[in-house]
Amino acid sequence: MSTVADFSDAEIDSGRRLFGGEWGFLSAASSHDAFPSTSGLEVAFAGRSNVGKSSLINALTGRRSLARTSSTPGRTQELIFFSGPHALRLVDLPGYGYAAAAKSKVSAWTKLIHEYLHSRAALARVYLLIDARHGLKAVDEAILDTLGKAAVSYQIVLTKSDQVSETELATRCQSVQAAVRKRPAAFPDLIVTSARTGAGIAQLRAAIARLAAERGR
Ligand code: GDP
Repeated sequence: MSTVADFSDAEIDSGRRLFGGEWGFLSAASSHDAFPSTSGLEVAFAGRSNVGKSSLINALTGRRSLARTSSTPGRTQELIFFSGPHALRLVDLPGYGYAAAAKSKVSAWTKLIHEYLHSRAALARVYLLIDARHGLKAVDEAILDTLGKAAVSYQIVLTKSDQVSETELATRCQSVQAAVRKRPAAFPDLIVTSARTGAGIAQLRAAIARLAAERGR
């Protein structure tokens, strides 16, 4: 059984076109009041600190340093909005699960994410990034609960696939998929990526283009 999403050449091409052109920073928000007004289609990226989220956003948009890759995990407590040439926005949700984060920081994070998930009519899907080397951790399961409660559609994206063997990757895909299969808000297929080699980037763009097509955008 295939656990990885499949796309036609036409969808890959739509993804390439959707992400072509100039992408830029739109705004940063550390509270609900600062969210930009919703328009078009929005997809968000979530994941543990250091999962490779900034690198993935940079790979998707073809911009080397659009999202800041950080050597200080847990530093940013902001949502960052990016816009491109079409009616699509990307949202970089602040990383979670940094072991040294203070309790007050964790609750501020939870409040911010909660406000975001419950207020964005344009939000079509959250891509939850999971490190291909580590699979789902308890802290990721907590995020799956949060996404499920908010009834937001989400999909798992494995990152750093270049760091594991084919066999390990296949095992990881099976176990992650088995874990999300029980969750109704989870999209069943995974997308396997590496920002380093570019593997799966065209497929993730195609997945977002498919969403945009489904939403008539
Ligand atoms: P973030 O904290 O989730 O935004 O993660 P970053 O994008 O800053 O990446 C964290 C670390 O993982 C950095 O050292 C990156 O160079 C590395 N990294 C990110 N993506 C990949 C990848 O696809 N393959 C490999 N091998 N390393 C990666």
